[in-house]
Order: sequence, then structure tokens, then C-alpha cells
Amino acid sequence: MPSENVRTVFIEKFGGPEELKFIERPVGDPGPGEVRIRHKACGLNFIDVYQRTGLYPLDLPAPLGMEASGIIEAVGDGVTHLRIGERAAYASTPPGAYCEARVMRAAQVCPLPDGISFEEGAAMMLKGLTVNYLFRRTTPIAKGDTVLFHAAAGGVGLIACQWARSEGVTLIGTAGTDEKCELARENGATHVINYRNEDFATRVREITEGKGVDVVMDSVGKDTFDGSLDSLKPLGMMISFGNASGKAPPVDLGTLAAKGSLKVTRPTLFTHIADHETCQQMARELFEKVTAGEIVIHVDQRFPLAEVAEAHKALEARKTTGATILEV
Ligand code: NDP
Repeated sequence: MPSENVRTVFIEKFGGPEELKFIERPVGDPGPGEVRIRHKACGLNFIDVYQRTGLYPLDLPAPLGMEASGIIEAVGDGVTHLRIGERAAYASTPPGAYCEARVMRAAQVCPLPDGISFEEGAAMMLKGLTVNYLFRRTTPIAKGDTVLFHAAAGGVGLIACQWARSEGVTLIGTAGTDEKCELARENGATHVINYRNEDFATRVREITEGKGVDVVMDSVGKDTFDGSLDSLKPLGMMISFGNASGKAPPVDLGTLAAKGSLKVTRPTLFTHIADHETCQQMARELFEKVTAGEIVIHVDQRFPLAEVAEAHKALEARKTTGATILEV
């Protein structure tokens, strides 16, 4: 039987949102260790922008999208954790989630609990698993510690605010408008700073009575990196995990000594979820928090898949809050 064609978003060259094209391509059948999933919703992530622009280079032509939810349609040999007809969601590499259905490696595809909608599933996997590894697997963070979190009203940010609240961690959130600051506060940020109006490092010193914070989680990169180092207490940990404003500058190791034996790490989710069992465990921990109501997944924007370019424009223009869904 000839394989069904499905609509897929791909790029032939790096560039602006206008480079996002559609093709019809055969979806195929799963081989060993693979599943075919029929998407119900796809998640939009800033990493999709980095891949589209070439900041994170891909072999071209390349499909885009790293996160989605849907129903398992076919299961390849050796896959034991998923069944045909089961609801599922994933964050996974290589990209290719912006489509109606796909065949993919099963290892990072997770059964989705009944109490979590397809939309929430597509909005929470990449972002929520990231928050999980930031708070639980990167550096020890204890109840009562203080974390500075940039872009706190974004997709990763609103989950981080709620995660911190649920674990008794004091989160100082930055955001680019007063409305976004308010949203971060409503979601659990103990203090908020509009970093377009105020020097956030100075404000962090005021809030912490001169001490600085234990950990900074910085996904903004170029514009915030130096101020983030200035916000840390001695022995503090700088987690640089993104580049929304451009690449973070190179670090002079002498600066880390001068500012008080600081630590810097540059993690990526896909190292943390490379192992199948670890990935499934991290997803269960995230699902528990959502099912318990400790974390609410905010889907604040929805675009039909056909309008993926508009979704990219909105994300890059800092016009979004929380998560953005591409409707399939
Ligand atoms: P967001 O929804 O947080 O959108 C990015 C936000 O960054 C914007 O809304 C904006 O918030 C802020 N920002 C600051 N400066 C700029 C700028 N010059 N241009 C655009 N945005 C800017 O995106 P995601 O939730 O998808 O991702 C958040 C960050 O986390 C991204 O940098 C992403 O790459 C990173 N990430 C890293 C992972 C990893 O494992 N390393 C995994 C997942 C995400 P505001 O207006 O409030 O400043």
C-alpha cells in the first residue's frame, strides 16, 4: 500500500520566517525502536528560531519542530512502553515535529496521562523537562535558595516560576514589560524586575540585601550575561541555557575568580533526556506536578500550522507569554 502523504514544515536555507515552507511527504511505517504518531498539537520553542536562522546549524533541507503530542498509530519492533491508540507527547531531536504525523524514535516519546490535554502535552514537554533538569539535575537547589530567572513570563519561564513555588525556592523573575512581570508574579515569582526599565543586577542586590543569588538561570544570553554574573553570591552557579538576545560572550576564567569562585555551566535538555529511562522518569515527575495542580500549563497563543511563520514572528518579537501551540 503506498504510504500516505502528510504536510511538513521544512527549510531549504537559513533565514527569516519566510524560509518556512511546506512539503507533502510520505509518512512511512516505523522500523525497530520507532513509532508513528498522529499529531494533535505541536509546540513552538525558541530553539526552532535558532535552527531556522542557523544559530544552531542543521543539515539542509531540514524539517523543524521539537515538541508535539498525539496518538500512537503504529509501533515498531522492540518498543514496549507505548501501545497503538495511546495518547503520547514528546520533546525530541532531530527536529521534525511541525507536521501532521511522523515516524520517529520512540525513546523520548512518553505516555500522556489522561488528565493532561493534547494541547498541554504539546506545550509542556520541551519546556517542562527543561525546568526539571534546571531545578533538579544541574546544581543542588534547596528549599529557601534564591534563583534569578530571566524571561520569567515565557514558555519555560512560567513553568519555572510555578516549579520554584512548589519547591519552596525563592525566584526573582525578570521580564520585558510590567504586564509580563505581573504574570510571572501570579505564577509564583517572589520578586519581579522589568529588565527593560531597571538595571536588574542592582535590583537583585537590593532584594537580596547585598548578598546576591545562589543560582542564575539565563536564557537571554548576550544582553544579560554580564549582569547575571554580577547578581551571583560567592560560589554561585551561572546556568546559561539560551541565547534569545544573541550568543552569550566568551567567559574569562579570571572573572569567575574575581567575582567569588563562581561556577558556569551551559547545559542542553537533550543531554539530560538522551537516556530513555531518565527521560521517562523526568516526564513522570513533570506530569505529577501538573496533575497535582502545582503547575498549570499556560497556552497563551494558538496558530494553525499553516501560519507557522506568524507564530515565529510573534515569538521573536517578544509578543508572546507562556506557551504557543501550532494547531494541526
Ligand atoms: P520564551 O517564550 O521564553 O521566549 C523568549 C523570551 O526571551 C521572550 O519572550 C523575551 O521575553 C525574552 N527575550 C529577551 N531578549 C530577547 C530578544 N532580543 N529577542 C527575543 N526574545 C528576547 O521562549 P521559550 O520558552 O521557548 O525558551 C526560553 C529560552 O530557553 C530560550 O532562550 C530557549 O532557547 C531556552 N531553552 C533552552 C533549553 C536548553 O536545554 N538549553 C531548552 C529549552 C529552552 P521578555 O520580553 O520578557 O524579555
